[in-house]
Amino acid sequence: MSPAPEAQPVTAGPAASGPSGAAPEGAAELAVIATQVASCVKCGLSANRNVTVPGEGSLDPPVLFVGEGPGAEEDRTGRPFVGAAGQYLDTWLKPIGLTRSQCFIANCVKCRPPQNREPHPDEIGACLPYLERQIAVIRPKVICCLGRIAAQTLLGTASSLGALRGKVHQRRGIPVIVTYHPSAVLRDKAALRKPVWEDLQLLQRQLQQ
Ligand code: URA
Ligand code: SF4
Repeated sequence: MSPAPEAQPVTAGPAASGPSGAAPEGAAELAVIATQVASCVKCGLSANRNVTVPGEGSLDPPVLFVGEGPGAEEDRTGRPFVGAAGQYLDTWLKPIGLTRSQCFIANCVKCRPPQNREPHPDEIGACLPYLERQIAVIRPKVICCLGRIAAQTLLGTASSLGALRGKVHQRRGIPVIVTYHPSAVLRDKAALRKPVWEDLQLLQRQLQQ
C-alpha cells in the first residue's frame, strides 16, 4: 500500500519562502513532485520502502546537498539525512555559515535500498528525473555532491571521488562541488576530515562569488 499523502513531509518545509520570497508556484511544484514520488513504482526500490524521502528544504537555497539514498531512519521518517550521517552533516554547515533550513537536501534515489546497498544504475536512472525537476525549481547557487554515487550521477562520469573533489565543476550552469559522504567520513575520520574541510571551504568560497 502506498503511504497516505499526509504521511509525507511537506517537501518545501517550513522554510518554503526563501530570502527573495521565492515564487509560491515553486512550492506547489515541489509538492507535486513529492506526491508523485510517494506513489512511484518506476523501479524495484518501491517494493521495500516504508515511506519515500523526496527531499526537503528552502525554495531558494544557497546549496543543494545530494546524497545517495535514504537509510533506515530516513525510510522511517520520510526526511533526508536525519540518521547518524545526517546529524554529522549538520555539523558541517555552521562552520561555513549555513543552516540546514537555508539549504535543500535530497538524494539520488527517493526510496531506501535494501540493507543500505548502493542504488543500481537502473534505479538511479529511473529516479533522476525527480531530482532534475527539483533542481529546476529551486535553482541552487551551488550543488554539493555527498559521495561518489551523487557525484558520478550528477556529473555523468565514472571518475573516482578522489579525482572529482577539490574543484568546481559545472552542470547546466550550476557550479558543482564534490566531497565525501558523511557516512564514509564517520568510518574514517582520521583520513577524511581534512579533505572534507578543504571541500567545505571551497564551497564557502564559491558561495561568496
Ligand atoms: N545517506 C544518504 O545518502 N542519504 C540520506 O538521506 C541518509 C543517509
Ligand atoms: Fe520511484 Fe525513485 Fe522510488 Fe524508484 S527510487 S520507486 S524511481 S521514487
